Amino acid sequence: MPLSAAILETLYNIVGDIGFTTDQQAIAPYLVESRGRFHGYCDALIKPKSTQEVADVLALCNDENIPVVPQGGNTGHCGGAVPDGGVLINLSRLNQVRALDPLNATMTVEAGCILQNIQTAAQKHNYIFPLTLAAQGSCQIGGNIATNAGGVQVLKYGNMRDLVLGLEVVLADGRIWDGLRGLRKDNTGYDLPHLFIGSEGTLGIVTAAILKLFPQPKESITVFVGAQSPADLMDGFAHFRDDFADDLSAFEIMPRFALDLVLKHVWGNRDPLSRPYPWYGLIEIGTARTHTGLRESCEKLLELLLSREIFSDALIAESLIQVKNLWALRENISDAQKQEGGSIKHDVSVPVSKISAFLDETSHMITNIMPNARICAFGHAGDGNIHFNVSQPTGMEKEFFLTHWNELNEIVHEMAAKYEGSFSAEHGIGLLKTEEMELYRHGPELDMMRAIKKALDPNGIMNPGKIIKI
Ligand SMILES: Cc1cc2nc3c(=O)[nH]c(=O)nc-3n(C[C@H](O)[C@H](O)[C@H](O)COP(=O)(O)OP(=O)(O)OC[C@H]3O[C@@H](n4cnc5c(N)ncnc54)[C@H](O)[C@@H]3O)c2cc1C
Repeated sequence: MPLSAAILETLYNIVGDIGFTTDQQAIAPYLVESRGRFHGYCDALIKPKSTQEVADVLALCNDENIPVVPQGGNTGHCGGAVPDGGVLINLSRLNQVRALDPLNATMTVEAGCILQNIQTAAQKHNYIFPLTLAAQGSCQIGGNIATNAGGVQVLKYGNMRDLVLGLEVVLADGRIWDGLRGLRKDNTGYDLPHLFIGSEGTLGIVTAAILKLFPQPKESITVFVGAQSPADLMDGFAHFRDDFADDLSAFEIMPRFALDLVLKHVWGNRDPLSRPYPWYGLIEIGTARTHTGLRESCEKLLELLLSREIFSDALIAESLIQVKNLWALRENISDAQKQEGGSIKHDVSVPVSKISAFLDETSHMITNIMPNARICAFGHAGDGNIHFNVSQPTGMEKEFFLTHWNELNEIVHEMAAKYEGSFSAEHGIGLLKTEEMELYRHGPELDMMRAIKKALDPNGIMNPGKIIKI
């Protein structure tokens, strides 16, 4: 039911002119999911400027049973920030860095801060905030927390869950929970911040967070390697992890097909190695210590891996531009795949020890039913996260290819389950994977989730329809 004029007027009075619109033309860009799969509708777009304004809006919506969808940068891939009526609360105006405590190595930020701005602010104090992902120029820290975002450095620093010490959250009924404690030890009952991290806006609205900062790496080495198979790459990964332990910060893999797509579609990229190889690895090691001999150790290990034919070729980046160019090959894969036509995508994880078998068997299953399917399985292999994407066969109509969406999803998700993995590694559930939640998360697990949802949001106003069916 559309919101009444009286409710719209109260909302307007809470956030004022800049923070309120019902103009559907102005709202339209906020209603589409980043890949265009989901389109929504809302009566009003609200942009609060303070935690108190968020609280006042939620108190009203809770009293009036109005659905609320929180939104950050709207870069999520699962339709989580797409509303279906009610009020859309975009957090972009809540964007202040409240404090930076250098000795505690923490930073207190508001939910609407753009991830990249947080990284820059940390750098000014000789720290890094290590969450790194291709959408960092537009995603917000509140969205990163709500999706438990990962990225390319999870291997060393963990995902968002590992990077948050405290939270400020507005609960569904409008009460403000001030959990902004920058403590590394705090054993006081249930771990409430972790309830909200990864909850995709279904339990409350994150308005601020205390983030962990880390010393800036003083030395960093980026390596691009060619290999014959995922098994060889993962063998190389084990050697890198043994030799460099926590200094290993990224281990990405991609097949030749992914590289071919980037070279074909994204201007300015070139093949870093002189010959083509079936698989590639992009490896990063770094340390905040000085005089470590990191480069010498890396060269020595690469010599060993090349002599044992675990890697077929290897290149160490010699300049920052070369580092950037190598990372561009990895970061442009999704874009290049889009330009190549239809693709059916998956965001799964399996234990690192099972990546190679998972890739082999899943590829085999897919080509069994679609012999010319072009498999583009790449990703953060060091933490077991593979974007198992399939591009349309050459010559096949995109629309026809996409009719196989559910069939291919089922194969990939079944295989992930078979290899003790997850159907959603880093992008979350949103609207996209609620069916899979019912299929792969059973009995007590779903019951506990429903009980938590009911306890924190008894009227069911927070992001209805997302994550779990009630
Ligand atoms: C090019 C590209 C690359 C990407 N790479 C990665 C990657 O490597 N790793 C990764 O994890 N993700 C990746 N993503 C997905 C996306 O960037 C992340 O999920 C990101 O964390 C979403 O942040 P956002 O601010 O855009 O959130 P939104 O998309 O706006 O929202 C996502 C969810 O969080 C909820 N939400 C948003 N803000 C709040 C808040 N303040 N309080 C409560 N709930 C809130 C929304 O309701 C929604 O359910 C990528 C996306 C793109 C477009």
